[in-house]
Formats: sequence, structure tokens, C-alpha cells
Amino acid sequence: MKIDLNLSPIENHLENPNWPILIAGPCSAESEEQMLDTAYRLKASKRVSYFRAGIWKPRTRPGSFEGVGEIGLEWMRTVKRETGLPTACEVANAEHARLAIEYGVDVLWVGARTSANPFSVQEIADCIRGCPVTVLVKNPVNPDLQLWIGALERINRAGITRLAAIHRGFSAYEKTPFRNAPLWNIAIELKTTCPELPIICDPSHIAGVRELVPLIAQKALDLDMHGLMVEVHDNPAVAKSDAAQQLLPADYARMIYDLRLREVSPAKTGTLSRLDAYRQEIDTLDDGIMQQLAQRMELSREIGRYKKENNLMVLQLSRWEEILHNRVAMGRAMGMGDGFVKKFLELVHEESINLQAEIMNEKP
Ligand code: PEP
Ligand code: MN
Repeated sequence: MKIDLNLSPIENHLENPNWPILIAGPCSAESEEQMLDTAYRLKASKRVSYFRAGIWKPRTRPGSFEGVGEIGLEWMRTVKRETGLPTACEVANAEHARLAIEYGVDVLWVGARTSANPFSVQEIADCIRGCPVTVLVKNPVNPDLQLWIGALERINRAGITRLAAIHRGFSAYEKTPFRNAPLWNIAIELKTTCPELPIICDPSHIAGVRELVPLIAQKALDLDMHGLMVEVHDNPAVAKSDAAQQLLPADYARMIYDLRLREVSPAKTGTLSRLDAYRQEIDTLDDGIMQQLAQRMELSREIGRYKKENNLMVLQLSRWEEILHNRVAMGRAMGMGDGFVKKFLELVHEESINLQAEIMNEKP
């Protein structure tokens, strides 16, 4: 099913208009110095289209830092005046939207918790009806494509045509290597449903740790996404929210320079070389292998706890021999060499024994 949205282009403000839209800045506005320092450093990278900062922070548990509020909008205005960078912030209700527009914020984004709630999205849409702002709609926290599309439609029907989606991953109950499961297929399905709608990836909230941000950013570009929103802080160690996933401005610049940026000549859009397609498939398979390995290790820890409680031996030789025998035969039937499967299993088994031994030796 195709969805018709009335769209107009979003400016990317970069030297080369073929580059993806790059939105960067701290998770939260914390002080005027932090905002200006981060913004100046980002500006120096020449790879930022919009400066972002959270003014009101939706926190999972009460008592965490909930944002500086209206004063942060004054700092945003200062950033824009001093650095010339256009600005972006999250809005979760009509009052936020009214204030952000009053302070001249250029881009508003609807956060993942808000886009899951049609009442709040409609309230924001009614408040900004006809305003010349750009709006980005993050995917809802739950993996529901229709809810995401519904939120985009509500904003679009309020006359907002500079509109894009942000893919920031989805909550998952199971343990995954990422803070939010990317579920790339949902973003791809959105692209197929609304081919004209730009999709910007937020690798920071998918990754949850800074080391994995470049991996996700590259994957997003390989999937032909139109931009990135990345959390950057001038001193992530003291950040009041999302400290583990924010990059230093210099690391952000390095990441962007190292990315294989897609060429967007209209003729090439949507076409991937055969090699790229194979690599994407390999990446997706590797994601799955990593997730399963992590789940297996978590189970080993569980077993370790059980053995400890019941005073059982860590190494149970007969069980290990059975695993080796079965899996090598299984591998052989699937066209994999005995030596390879054995080596792989030995590595996994060794790690699993080590984890269990660590648990056994933990002081109560
Ligand atoms: C954010 O961008 O800082 C944020 C709170 O994002 P999300 O709504 O994706 O959790
Ligand atoms: Mn954040």
C-alpha cells in the first residue's frame, strides 16, 4: 500500500548538497557554555546541517535529569546567532511546540514516546498548523509501522510539508547488542510505502554505546537513508543524559569523514551494486549471529548460577562431548568442514566455561 504525503525538500545546509542531512548536538541542553562549545566544534567540522539539543527530556524513570526547559531555548537562540547553525529540538506537547517556534527553532522533532501517542501528535499538529517549520517524526518505541505512518500523516495534514522520519530503533525485551533493536526491515517498509519521504537514522539511540555508533551510521547510509542524527557532547563523561552514547565533536568529525557517503545522483538513487547488496546481507546475518551468541552467553551465566546454587561441577564432560558430536555432524550436513565447526565450538565452550567459573568464584 502506498501512502500519499504532500512533501517539499528539506534544506541540508552543507557545502555539497548531495551529502546526507547531518543533525548533531548533545542529547540534552545543559548550560550555555556546553551548547556553544559543542556547536562551535561541530561547525568547524563543516559536517553539520542542524544543531540538535533536547530541552525537555522524556525519562524512563522519575528523578533523572528532565531537561533545563525554556532557558535552553534561549541558549539555542544564542547558538544560532553566534554560529549561524540552524537548530532542532524535541517537542512532546503543544506548549513545547509553541515555545520552540516562538524562540525560532528551525526543526522540531516528535520523540519516540510521543509518536506512539496519537493524542499528543494531534495536539502538536494542531498547534503548528501552517507554521513554516520542518518536522521530523521518530519511530514509536514499539515496532508498529502504521503508528509511525499515522503520526507522519497527522503532521502532514496540518500543512507541514518539510517532513521526514527518524529511525531510532525499537524497544526490545530480549537482550540485544543494541540499546534499541534496529529492525531495519520496518524502515525499509516505510521507504517502500512512502518512497518520497526522507528517512534519517539516529544511530546514537540505536547503538546506546559510542563504539557502535559508526557501525550503525554506515549501515544506514548503505541502506540509502537520507541523513543522520547523532548525539555529540563536548564532554560526554559528565553528560546528564545518555552519557555512554555521546561522541566527542572530534570523534563525530572523524566518523563522518570515514563514512562511505552515498552518491545521490538521481540516476543512481535506489541502485546498489551487487557487492554492496551481498555485504548488506552479510551484515544482517552477522547481526543475528552476534545477538544469538550474546543470548547463549547469557544462558551460560544462568546455568553458572544454577550450578552454584546446587553445588554442581562447571565442566560436565559428557554434555560437552554430546554437543561437539551433534553440532559437528549438523555442520557437516550443512556443508561446513568438521575442523571449522569444532574450532568455533571450542571457542564458544571455553568462553562459556570461563563465565560459569567466574560466577562460581563470586563472593556471595
Ligand atoms: C533524544 O533524541 O534525545 C531522544 C530522547 O530520543 P528518542 O525519542 O528517540 O528516545
Ligand atoms: Mn538522548
